[in-house]
Amino acid sequence: MDTAMLIGSRFEAGTETEEHILNPKTGETVLDLPEASLGQIDAAVDAAEGAFKHWSQTTPGERSSYLLKIADAIEKDAAGFAALEALNCGKPINAVLNDEIPAIIDCYRFFSGAVRNLHGPVAGEYLPNHTSMIRRDAVGIVGSIAPWNYPLMMMAWKLAPAIAGGNTVVFKPSEHTPLTALKMAKLLSEILPEGVVNVVLGRGESVGNALINHPKISMLSITGDVATGKKVLQAAAKTVKRTHLELGGKAPVIVFDDADIDAVVAGIRTFGYYNAGQDCTAACRIYADAKVYDKFVADLSSAVSSIRFNQADDTENEIGPLISKRQRDRVESFVARAGEHKHMEITTGGKTSGDKGFFYTPTVIAGATQDDEIVRREVFGPVVSVTRFTDVEDAVTWANDSDYGLASSVWTKDISRGMKTAARLQYGCTWINTHFMLTNEMPHGGVKQSGYGKDMSVYALEDYTAVRHVMINHG
Ligand code: NAD
Repeated sequence: MDTAMLIGSRFEAGTETEEHILNPKTGETVLDLPEASLGQIDAAVDAAEGAFKHWSQTTPGERSSYLLKIADAIEKDAAGFAALEALNCGKPINAVLNDEIPAIIDCYRFFSGAVRNLHGPVAGEYLPNHTSMIRRDAVGIVGSIAPWNYPLMMMAWKLAPAIAGGNTVVFKPSEHTPLTALKMAKLLSEILPEGVVNVVLGRGESVGNALINHPKISMLSITGDVATGKKVLQAAAKTVKRTHLELGGKAPVIVFDDADIDAVVAGIRTFGYYNAGQDCTAACRIYADAKVYDKFVADLSSAVSSIRFNQADDTENEIGPLISKRQRDRVESFVARAGEHKHMEITTGGKTSGDKGFFYTPTVIAGATQDDEIVRREVFGPVVSVTRFTDVEDAVTWANDSDYGLASSVWTKDISRGMKTAARLQYGCTWINTHFMLTNEMPHGGVKQSGYGKDMSVYALEDYTAVRHVMINHG
């Protein structure tokens, strides 16, 4: 197992406090990893600064070929990456190997192509005898900070557009899930020039805080909690750093009376509970028309009770545990508080599972109303609430009545109704008759307090590059 941080071309252990890296399926410690010192963080930033001079001047074609090599190398070792990610996150091995790894490889391949197609929109004479052109150039050193729910995928979403755009990076994985980032560090050191990507370990309040306040870092890219995003913005204000924020979500799902209920149930069973609901786009806040509400709640509860987890044979598992005891306790307390209200009913789940690890039973809470905590706050666990509506206007108003604005979906057989509703939803993404489906060609990112950074797609490449004007006087 790779355990050292990457600073320039050196592999080093951190010298500060040790973090227990746990297996969430058992709660046992896999290993202890010390976090970086301030000196090591400075050295990583200096390495990124040194590499920037050359890397930012390489051609898109050169950078593209590096990204293709990275994709090929991950593909060659897909089983190794998947096993390590499954160990560190408790994810079912098949989900990592068949869903996440191909999407990660495709992310590097997408940006290898996209960077060769990034064109400036003008070259012209806007003043006599002066020719203007638009360039898109690298921003500088990017400080990238990732969460624990999809460690390797978040790393790909952050690294691929950043280095494709000519930036250099100091990357910090979540303190809970550093193992695949360390394996990637080894792989990247064998492919990329020294210092283009550096990986440092540590907690948010120490190493993360040092990165977001580092004077030499030009851009901060973070996926995490809204509260963390606000701290990043405050730190960025001191030296006016560019920010790329991907924060939380509380995705509403509107189920119209003409929806194919079997399809909705199958969809929510998958898209509400995938990764044990630890997903910022999870379909967790359902508004169902009163005409179909009873059947929908009954069918959904039955379907959710059949989700397989905590099986000895991991290939049978559909979802894993929560990432930590703290996260499981948090989920448990949300459900307990909901259960105290008479108008809500826990129709399936509502309890922890097993005496080892951090498992929580997939849960449906019916009868929730708009003001309930379970409807308003991000749980980040396998818990879905269902709210009844009789007036479509209420459903749209309630769906939009959230501080979050990342993802949403509408389920109806009437495509005109679906399109009209999608146009009114204040979310970075609205799916019609599906949920959760992502593709590297399309942007992922929010509005409102879900942040404004776009991951994937050419929009990410735009976020990680600066528009510049160059004018020639040839009079
Ligand atoms: P978190 O905010 O606690 O941590 C995210 C990262 O930020 C970690 O690496 C952490 O060490 C670091 N961090 C924490 N405090 C910091 C500070 N003061 N300064 C600098 N860095 C700091 O979030 P989490 O618990 O790891 O992840 C779950 C959250 O991430 C959820 O709210 C979820 O919705 C969100 N998320 C959003 C997206 C998206 O695309 N919008 C994707 C995945 C997760």
